[in-house]
Amino acid sequence: MASPVFHGLTGAGLAYVLAGDGSLPLFASFRKTLPLLVAGAVAACLPDIDYLPGLWRGHLNAAHQLATHSLAWVVLATAGILLVGRAWQPARFGWRAAVFLLALAGSHLAIDGVTADRSPPCGFPLGWPFSHVAMLAPFALLPAWEKASLAEVVGMANVRPLAIELAAGFAILAACIWAKRGWTIFKAAL
Ligand SMILES: [Zn+2]
Repeated sequence: MASPVFHGLTGAGLAYVLAGDGSLPLFASFRKTLPLLVAGAVAACLPDIDYLPGLWRGHLNAAHQLATHSLAWVVLATAGILLVGRAWQPARFGWRAAVFLLALAGSHLAIDGVTADRSPPCGFPLGWPFSHVAMLAPFALLPAWEKASLAEVVGMANVRPLAIELAAGFAILAACIWAKRGWTIFKAAL
């Protein structure tokens, strides 16, 4: 499964598409939307919250790629965040926030689905709780990480997947900025 590096960069890119103004200089434009970019990056990583029980037990994959990597969890987590958000700031948590959260969590499952996976169970139960069949695309666009333990995560074997994720992640981010700039030439900012 892809790491938080790639999920986070994709989430920040989607956040920029939603809330960025497409203006130059980019640094100033980024600074204006920084809280939302960070929130997008964090939300895109949310399904990987299932690493935490494994972190406790010393085996990172112990509870990984189970219920939190399903469509049902994506919908439930989105509904939960929206409910809490609406109680806090009703104006900010309308249908746009719902679409945004679904897109972020959905991007996580789509990315994991095209990442090589060598740690059983290979894939994740997209149809949970109705089906426990592990799903994975028949092709892989991103390499697998060695991540049975924290020591393995920081090992040299992961330099290559990290480099690929950084390059691909920044390419996605750049594509999102380019798309938003193209959009704002013709239309008002979303
Ligand atoms: Zn994941």
